[in-house]
Amino acid sequence: TAVAVVFGTRPEIIKLGPVIAALGAAARPVFTGQHYDAALVDTFLAVAGVPDLKPALPGIGGTGRADQVSLMLSGLTALWRADRPDAVVVQGDTNTANAAAQAAHYLGIPVVHVEAGLRSFDRNMPEEINRLVISAVADVHCAATEENAEFLLRAGTPAESVHLTGNPIVEATRAILPSEFARRRALADAGVTGPDFVLATIHRPENADDPDRLALILAQLALLGRPVVLPLHPRTRQTISRYEVPVPPQITVTDPLDHARFLALATACTLVVSDSGGVQEEVTVIGRPLVVVRNSTERPEAMRAGFALLAQPAEILDAARRLLDPAHLARLAHTPSPFGDGHAAERIAALTLAAIHHTPAAAEP
Ligand code: UDP
Repeated sequence: TAVAVVFGTRPEIIKLGPVIAALGAAARPVFTGQHYDAALVDTFLAVAGVPDLKPALPGIGGTGRADQVSLMLSGLTALWRADRPDAVVVQGDTNTANAAAQAAHYLGIPVVHVEAGLRSFDRNMPEEINRLVISAVADVHCAATEENAEFLLRAGTPAESVHLTGNPIVEATRAILPSEFARRRALADAGVTGPDFVLATIHRPENADDPDRLALILAQLALLGRPVVLPLHPRTRQTISRYEVPVPPQITVTDPLDHARFLALATACTLVVSDSGGVQEEVTVIGRPLVVVRNSTERPEAMRAGFALLAQPAEILDAARRLLDPAHLARLAHTPSPFGDGHAAERIAALTLAAIHHTPAAAEP
């Protein structure tokens, strides 16, 4: 049995690591190379236990959306026509997941979608369109939450194909939580000298590509009254240097961190400020408060459980004040993650193997 597990970006590698482990010898990892910056890829591949760091499809990273999807669609089609897997697993809402799901579907290979059923209802987000495309072609939908499953059912997805599995980010986060020693070293390396600091990440196009909006975010971070560590995504770094966006002295900029170091800072900090998708899930596992700097979110569960507040750039300070209320913080420490129980990957692996045996091999039209 061969299950192609496809990923192209940092968050996919993180979340599919436990699925690859649960599939054992059946897993055949395929890295498309959508993220091509070594800082976003190399250590993550090593941690996920992927032996071959060469992308299956060289030259994908850095091209436009249409080019990326079409290059990956034809590249993966050729790959799988020559060496056909029994099933294909994709994760989330990237161009990689979109192209891989389509390629597998057209070849008649069962498609398993991890983190299925997220919806922001914001069609300006490229990720939202990717989610809709993947949902349309997937055969097994692995939803992290009841609400995600509900969105799929309401859209007419056959009920027998929708499964509540949880999100493997829960076990991925728990597995990589650093020891006290590693934590102290990560803090020292990032220049953190006291216990009261903010960890921030900004990389979504709506924030990272707009120099005025980015400057406002950085100015608000400086107003939080504590040192800020900002591991800088290459996309954001590019805007800061191209438009000479001022970085206030309260902010220490670092390169992107490996996952263990990032979680070390996230567990130790007072507050996280981020526009990341995965970070909205991780804070619920480690019990930290998070200001989400975005127009919309497809993960309202983190907000409903009290971990996160959505804020426009000018509202960051206000949202931080509300989250840092001591009684609120005490409640968070005892609130379970709404994204799963830490056994999602086992369920996803079992569903994938079952799908292979239940789907009759379809001929390519
Ligand atoms: N992350 C990391 N190092 C960093 C910044 C983020 O390991 O310097 C991790 C973070 O813990 C989370 C994942 O990267 O698991 C999120 O990826 P990203 O924000 O790139 O993508 P998104 O989740 O928004 O799709």
